[in-house]
Amino acid sequence: MAIVPEVAGKLAGTGIDVVVQSGAGAKAGFPDTAYEQAGASVVADAASALAGASVVARVQPPALHEVDQLPDGVSLVSFLQPVASSEVVKALADKGATVYSLDLLPRISRAQSMDALSSQATVSGYRAGLSAAEHLHKFFPMFMTAAGTVPPAKVLVMGAGVAGLQAIATARRLGAVVRAYDVRAAAKEEVQSLGATFVELALETQDGAGGYAKEQSAEYLAKQQELLAAEVASADVVITTAQIPGRQAPVLVTEAMVEGMSEGAVVIDLAADSGGNCELTMAGEDVVAHGVTVVGLTNPPASMPTHASFLYARNIANFLALVVKDGELAPDFDDEIVAGTCVVRAGTVVHPAAAEALGLPTPGPVGPPPVAEPTVEEPGESTDESKGAAS
Ligand code: NAD
Repeated sequence: MAIVPEVAGKLAGTGIDVVVQSGAGAKAGFPDTAYEQAGASVVADAASALAGASVVARVQPPALHEVDQLPDGVSLVSFLQPVASSEVVKALADKGATVYSLDLLPRISRAQSMDALSSQATVSGYRAGLSAAEHLHKFFPMFMTAAGTVPPAKVLVMGAGVAGLQAIATARRLGAVVRAYDVRAAAKEEVQSLGATFVELALETQDGAGGYAKEQSAEYLAKQQELLAAEVASADVVITTAQIPGRQAPVLVTEAMVEGMSEGAVVIDLAADSGGNCELTMAGEDVVAHGVTVVGLTNPPASMPTHASFLYARNIANFLALVVKDGELAPDFDDEIVAGTCVVRAGTVVHPAAAEALGLPTPGPVGPPPVAEPTVEEPGESTDESKGAAS
């Protein structure tokens, strides 16, 4: 859910009326009554929720038929992945909408409270740690019993960004011995602060802009695979989280490396939604090959909807506080955060890569978006389960 009851109550206090589609929060643990008690209006269907809305807050991009239902000139706040969703971006532009995509949020200190990628990556990393423990047919902690001593599980985490660090922390809390690797040199200290060992390879580090990794060449990845093979072979569990924003995930674990792992070992691939870090990954499936289970976790936050929504709703509310002043929509397009997240401004596609994907020239500045009474709507999510909406 993009808005949870507690946040609906807080928004009401800032002059923003929240309207929710009946039942939208039920599967995330937020019944209609909780919204009503918080001061939100609960209406029967999506069409009634959307009628007259000036802002629509969502988790996933709308489907094309859902764009049709949006009021003209509406503002939309959501995860959008604008390049992958270019048809939807075009339809939203045709509606004269103003669209903010939280996956484009600049990673600056002032934006941290709105950083939905980070909040959801925290959920994903935690899920990855739990999923690993569930799939492994061994204990995570060391046990010293009268019947003998059980050694702790050996977990290797590849990619130590927000999700990877949470996976490390979760595996450590469960008692595993954890090693971790990342191409960014800055990750070393963070890994060590969680009590894990940082794996150093005889390879140059790759720090890109904004704390992200740079895309690596095929030669670099081949060398990396060669150097990581022994690490992978000795691990009971490999959790992979490596991503390059806007690109296919790099392959870190080849089939040959899986073959080198012990019988019963587990690979949890958190990059399954963007192609996978393991050659054998199938998104949403558990593949058993060479005695190893390769789990392609898709949209992990959807499997922990209460707290995923709790965090996401706060991100949304903090973003709204930036674009709503005294109960009126008043986005400042000179603000780095507003400009950075804006994909469509009053019907004009302003995000360069989204414009390019649509064959449009990158536009210059346009007039301010339409201003109306701010009403935040949560119309519920598409019935398409694969979209994994928190609602
Ligand atoms: P991400 O999800 O894009 O990638 C996950 C990790 O994969 C990254 O740490 C990346 O370095 C790593 N990776 C990429 N290619 C790899 C490869 N071939 N081998 C091994 N690892 C590889 O990244 P993320 O978790 O969203 O963020 C990365 C970093 O950005 C964070 O750790 C943090 O330092 C920074 N950050 C800053 C802010 C802020 O300042 N507001 C907010 C969030 C994150």
